Amino acid sequence: MNAEAEATRYRKGLDFARQLDQRDPLARFRDRFHIPKMENGEDEIYLCGNSLGLQPRSAADYVTTELESWQRLGVKGHFEGPFPWLPYHELLARNMAALVGGEATEVVTMNSLTANLHLMMVSFYRPTNDRYKILIEDHAFPSDHYAVESQIKFHCYDPAQAMCLLRPRDGEELIHDEDVRDLIEREGESIALIMLPGVQYYTGQVFDMAEITRLGHEKGCVVGFDLAHAVGNVPLQLHDWGADFAVWCTYKYLNAGPGSVGGCFVHARHDNDAALPRFSGWWGHDKATRFKMGPRFEPIPGAEGWQLSNPPILSLAAIRASLDVFADAGHMAPLREKSLRLTGYLEWLLREELGETVVVITPRDPDRRGCQLSLRLVGESGKDIFGRLEKAGVTGDWREPDVIRVAPVPLYNCFEDCYRFVEILKALLKDRSGSDS
Ligand SMILES: *Cc1c(COP(=O)(O)O)cnc(C)c1O
Repeated sequence: MNAEAEATRYRKGLDFARQLDQRDPLARFRDRFHIPKMENGEDEIYLCGNSLGLQPRSAADYVTTELESWQRLGVKGHFEGPFPWLPYHELLARNMAALVGGEATEVVTMNSLTANLHLMMVSFYRPTNDRYKILIEDHAFPSDHYAVESQIKFHCYDPAQAMCLLRPRDGEELIHDEDVRDLIEREGESIALIMLPGVQYYTGQVFDMAEITRLGHEKGCVVGFDLAHAVGNVPLQLHDWGADFAVWCTYKYLNAGPGSVGGCFVHARHDNDAALPRFSGWWGHDKATRFKMGPRFEPIPGAEGWQLSNPPILSLAAIRASLDVFADAGHMAPLREKSLRLTGYLEWLLREELGETVVVITPRDPDRRGCQLSLRLVGESGKDIFGRLEKAGVTGDWREPDVIRVAPVPLYNCFEDCYRFVEILKALLKDRSGSDS
């Protein structure tokens, strides 16, 4: 059913929200997470999975299992115990690959997002005097901006010339597809690398990754994506789209805990490209001969060949716990289906109840957004209201200069969360207009 038709079926009121929850086939997954509590013992309205996903109840068991292996086995834990550590990261590959639409050998869990972005740029940003630019968005997430700028400087180019910035039109925030196309058309011949997000962190806009990859490749550019806000949120088909590489973190929609290990995708077409430079480490070396400790580096074919170090098993255990929850839920297709309804309902309520005051800057087209809505309050101090929301038990997040981000996550949020959030916001805004007059 299309969004318009769906919207005509939404109704106001708590009973309706509860009906939606009763009919939700994924509702039972909420119980598989720890939901933070308010002082009165009730569940918080947690709408902040875009920043830090909640903890799966199973995470503690998975981590404890590895702590126990270490207790019982010491160094032998690398080879013995229920999940030997030596190949532990391989246990994550299939489920992780399912979430990004890659093959298991195209995906590896290692390092952190920004570190992986640097490693990928070492291999895939190969500037020449004719083709030296990196296309990124203006106001990209700061870490991405710093990483790109520093790579350009590392290759002795001038960021003022080599950073090709994709900007929204004057007075707008969302990026038009045709502006991406025009920029690639115009500058493509001098662009070495296109590095764009899957989902823009501030506005929640989904970029057309398939089309950007096609346009970029047509012009001879390498195309990589930062999927920090996309993975676990929107369906991805990295292999079929043909993206050269992608990086992401696992603590946002992947619910793997603060600072957890990041993810990386390298397209299979690069598997046997010996000419690709890379910063290497022993964990990327051929598994059969890694422990012969020889001086000649022979990379594992596929994304694993970019690994540097033996990975932090306790973090991988928490990621595995979370990926198993995703697998139990059927991966992205059913989650996306619920997500469209959950965010659609929230948006509908905001427009119906608070359309005068609350502007949703996220795209209205459900295909062009994930679960997050970015809200701006007209004629109000957004920051002040945000503080009051927190006191009332709503956890969202505030992004300077003036946006409140709320992200109902299909794995653990319910329709009633959306309903209660809007009721609280409505009461706060009414309260203020009353006290102003
Ligand atoms: C969350 C996020 C990061 C965070 O980077 P870390 O290296 O994991 O600290 C980077 N880029 C984007 C776009 C993000 O959303």
